[in-house]
Amino acid sequence: MMKLLLIGPPGAGKGTQASKLSEVFGIPAISTGDIFRANVKNETPLGLEAKSYMDRGAYVPDDLTNKLVRDRLQNPDCVNGFLLDGYPRTADQVNELADILRETDSALDAVIQLTADTDEVVRRLAKRAIDQGRSDDTEDVIRNRMAIYEDQTAPLISLYAARGLLIMVDGLGEIDEVTSRIVEALNAKNQS
Ligand code: ADP
Repeated sequence: MMKLLLIGPPGAGKGTQASKLSEVFGIPAISTGDIFRANVKNETPLGLEAKSYMDRGAYVPDDLTNKLVRDRLQNPDCVNGFLLDGYPRTADQVNELADILRETDSALDAVIQLTADTDEVVRRLAKRAIDQGRSDDTEDVIRNRMAIYEDQTAPLISLYAARGLLIMVDGLGEIDEVTSRIVEALNAKNQS
């Protein structure tokens, strides 16, 4: 039973590590960004609404995002835990998640902060723009996403640190090496 959050700036490698950790722990990796992108692709009402925010690098409004996560966490595949990638990102989302957990009488095991230096992040996102053609990986939008992360999301990390939940892991290096770092840090935390 593992309930984990993965927090980090755009380009830190959250999505990559989320799928690795999902395999290691046998829990679903839930990426709000991926869910929004799937909705945009399928032109659902949620996708049509989310697209205008995403294309600017802005956060999708909390009410939409919170509802999406609340519904997703009710899926039976979450009974053994989950890893949330990219949620919560605002104070309102932190509160919503706390409510959801309280209602189900459960709690987080750890919050993984994936760090990455800005030059590396910009390099990775520029490469991803070419490889994947994501519409929000242009230079201006990337800069906006980073600024919003620093402004709205980075300050939330200290809340989780104060609760003794935070694990800080360097996201630089080989993919498997970073996964090992995270798994070791989680093991060390569980034993403490
Ligand atoms: P990034 O690497 O930029 O964090 P994501 O795939 O996680 O990429 O998110 C892409 C976009 O999806 C964000 O810029 C935002 O518009 C939207 N999004 C994802 N998660 C959230 C969230 N928790 N709250 C609001 N918007 C979100």
